[in-house]
This record gives sequence, C-alpha cells and structure tokens, in this order.
Amino acid sequence: MEIYWDAFINGFNGTLNYTWRSILFQVPWYTNYFWGLISISLIVWLLEFLFPWRKDQSVFRTDFWLDAFYMFFNFFVFAIVIQGIYNLLGVGFRELGITAQSFAVLHLNHWPIWAQLLLFFVLLDFVQWLTHIALHKFPLLWRFHQVHHSVKEMGFAAHLRYHWMENILYKPLKTLGVMLLGGFEPEQAYMVHFAAITIGHLNHANIKLTYGPLKYILNNPVMHLYHHAYELPKGSFGVNFGISLSLWDYLFKTNHLPEDSGTITLGYDGDTKMPKGFWGQSLHGFGKRKG
Ligand SMILES: [Zn+2]
Ligand SMILES: [Zn+2]
Repeated sequence: MEIYWDAFINGFNGTLNYTWRSILFQVPWYTNYFWGLISISLIVWLLEFLFPWRKDQSVFRTDFWLDAFYMFFNFFVFAIVIQGIYNLLGVGFRELGITAQSFAVLHLNHWPIWAQLLLFFVLLDFVQWLTHIALHKFPLLWRFHQVHHSVKEMGFAAHLRYHWMENILYKPLKTLGVMLLGGFEPEQAYMVHFAAITIGHLNHANIKLTYGPLKYILNNPVMHLYHHAYELPKGSFGVNFGISLSLWDYLFKTNHLPEDSGTITLGYDGDTKMPKGFWGQSLHGFGKRKG
C-alpha cells in the first residue's frame, strides 16, 4: 500500500515543486511552461491588438478574464492535483505487468531527433483529433465539451477554456500514443508542446490567418472559428475538429469553410443555459441532464 501512497505524494509534490521553481525561473527556460505560456499569450494578444480580424471586438472581449483564469487552472492547478493520481495508476498498471513500454511498436532511439519530434507531434495530434470527435459525438462527453463551445466572442485565451474533465478524457489516447512510440517522450518534446500551445492560441485568436497553401496541413483561426459556429451543416455533429493540424479534417472530409467574414454567431443550441462562472461550469456535465 505504501508504494501507492508514495507515488501519489511524489507526483503531487513533484509537479507542485516544478511549477513553483518555474515561477522563480529556476528551471531551464525551454521547459518553463509557466512563463512560456505567459509569453506566448502576450505575443498573440499583441498580434490581436495590431491586426484584429473583427475590428470592433474589444481587446478585453467578453469573458477575457474568465478564460485567463482557465488558462492557469487547466495548465497548472489541475496538473498539480491530478499528477498524484496518474502516478498512482502507473503503479497499479505496473503491478499488473503493464508498463509504458508494453505496447511499443516503434523504437525511435536511433531516429534523427527531427524525425522523432515530427512523428511524436503528428501522432499525438491525430489521437487528440479522434478524442475531440468523440467529445462531439457522444452526448455524455459533449456536455463537458460544451464549456469550450460556450465561448461567444473569440479570442486567444478561449483556447484553454475547457472543462477540467477534458484533461482526463484526452489522457488515455495520448498515453497510448506515447506508449506506441516506446513509452517515453523525446527529450526535446518541449518544442512540440510549445508549438501546440502557440498554434492553439492562434487558432482562437482574433486574427485572420490561414498560412496560404499550408492551410491544408495546419489548423488556423479561420478554420477553427467555424468549429465554434452555432449553425452546423445539416445532419452533422461538428466540423473542423483539428487541434494543431487541419490535415485530418481534409483527409477524412470533416472540413467545412463556407465563408471567411469572421462574424458568424458562435456557441451551440442551448448555450444560454451554461453557467457564467468558473465553478458552475466546472460542475456542468455532471448530474441530471437539464438540456
Ligand atoms: Zn469542439
Ligand atoms: Zn476551440
């Protein structure tokens, strides 16, 4: 029993310490997600200010501060709380003989670093695209994902407005993805994580950006705005599910971009019932279904 308790405490303390040391600049700059997230946010915010797509949208748009709070909550507070539980599960699986290396189909050690990182990025993005579709398809999961779709005015910080359950729901396939690649992240995986944060921030930013012909590969603000559209094509449960890459939507024909004015209504049928504050939204999705 003690190894479980130790794993739990070590996970909790380890993440808490790392976050604290990040705030104090005591970790290598390239793995400092705390100041990294703040820097990326300030840069994208400045770009929104300089090159706004919807010119009449306030720099402090509706729910700006709520979303700013979500950013720190989902990235740091929740990560600290949950790491102990993940470590505990890790011990449980190890006791059953399942380790991070059990399902390895590829051994990347001898690949060049750039190829390791590229594969890591593409595979992780694909499993997240699949998870995102599940969040839209299954009513029980959609209730949690509604929090992200309750954004009525789009700006970069909306990227990290999502129900804390999503952290958990994305985890199984992400873990499986890492396991298939040998069970460990490449040492330079921080590059992939920072790229994903930047692309995600831009996807939600009030900037008209499509990357030219690269739009068929990279997700972008124009495409993702239509993921948040109130009106969906008839009979569909969602479009443009891409996270960092739009490629999967083009490959599997879930892409949809009827126009690019940027002024469409956002949300979903029933979004007026979404609680306005963080705590109400955190409980949304549990209990009896009210609509
Ligand atoms: Zn969605
Ligand atoms: Zn979004």
